[in-house]
Amino acid sequence: MLWKAAIVAAGLCVFAQERVEQVGCACDPAKPETMKMRPCSLCAEAEKHSSEKLFYLKDNNPRKPNRWLVLPSKHMAGNHPLHELSPGERAGLWKAAIAKGRELFGDGWGVAYNGPQVRTQCHAHIHIGKFVTVAELPGFQVVSRPEDIPAPTSTGVWVHPVNGKLHVHSGEQIAETVLVR
Ligand SMILES: [Zn+2]
Ligand SMILES: [Zn+2]
Repeated sequence: MLWKAAIVAAGLCVFAQERVEQVGCACDPAKPETMKMRPCSLCAEAEKHSSEKLFYLKDNNPRKPNRWLVLPSKHMAGNHPLHELSPGERAGLWKAAIAKGRELFGDGWGVAYNGPQVRTQCHAHIHIGKFVTVAELPGFQVVSRPEDIPAPTSTGVWVHPVNGKLHVHSGEQIAETVLVR
């Protein structure tokens, strides 16, 4: 009955990755039991870094060995949408993401923020990785500085460098798939 075990395992996996839009975000550092809920695990990590403005984490998913995350240490309400950070805080986060991407992958870096409909973690986070060049799509915006990266309220964003400028792609929910796992 191996196939049955496989189906159960797949089902558990889907359950474990349930989107925060469906389960809500009740993460509250004042209530430690809430921080043990799976969508709150990055909030729990942030608690360990409260003396810093932002921090990096290696993605703990064994299927994404080449990925890193950058996160602000402060919490926000609900699923911590990036557009609710101040422009300065948001630019600081993008800059940190890009700096780490460049350190790891040179000009091959990419950074990505998933849209609210597919996020599985409440705490704000930007994915850092190597850009999959065949993922390139038309419909991008070109900006010069991280300060100019837009903050859409309802979709994800992914950014990669081209000729010294930044390509900004938005309009999709899933953004992190443009990065090598
Ligand atoms: Zn949080
Ligand atoms: Zn592009």
